[in-house]
Amino acid sequence: MKRTLETLYNVAHVSLGIVEGLECVLIDAIDHIGIAVKNLDEAISVYQNVLGFKLEGIHTLNERKVKVAFFSLGESRIELLEPLGSDSTVAKFLETRGEGIQHFAVKVKNIEAVLEEFKRKGVTLIDEKPRAGAEGAKIAFVHPKSTRGVLLELVEKP
Ligand SMILES: [Zn+2]
Repeated sequence: MKRTLETLYNVAHVSLGIVEGLECVLIDAIDHIGIAVKNLDEAISVYQNVLGFKLEGIHTLNERKVKVAFFSLGESRIELLEPLGSDSTVAKFLETRGEGIQHFAVKVKNIEAVLEEFKRKGVTLIDEKPRAGAEGAKIAFVHPKSTRGVLLELVEKP
């Protein structure tokens, strides 16, 4: 039953997008904002002790060469990212732009469908296929040149 409803939901959303040109219906909500930091422990202390954000968890993502901390913020979250090595994309970001917002992430219901739709429209994708994110999520990145300068992450929760 759940499957069927989800399928109907996806079909309805995709159809709406095509019929009414409401492409944005593929995207649900902001999942998190990613902030590049030089030192994760120091940044955690600021967000937790000074700003009063609630720490949710810390993960090491070896494949992406980053260590991240998530803070819950209502339905959304803040993700702090420290690079693990100079070849990490976050290290390159820190070098050229300094600490600050590195990407924003949106929730989607069907990441494969969104990627197909974006590909069809000529959006420059960093990931043509979804890859594994933290906590069993499927994620994919869209190149900043297709979003007016901000790295965009798509997230499909399990
Ligand atoms: Zn992220």
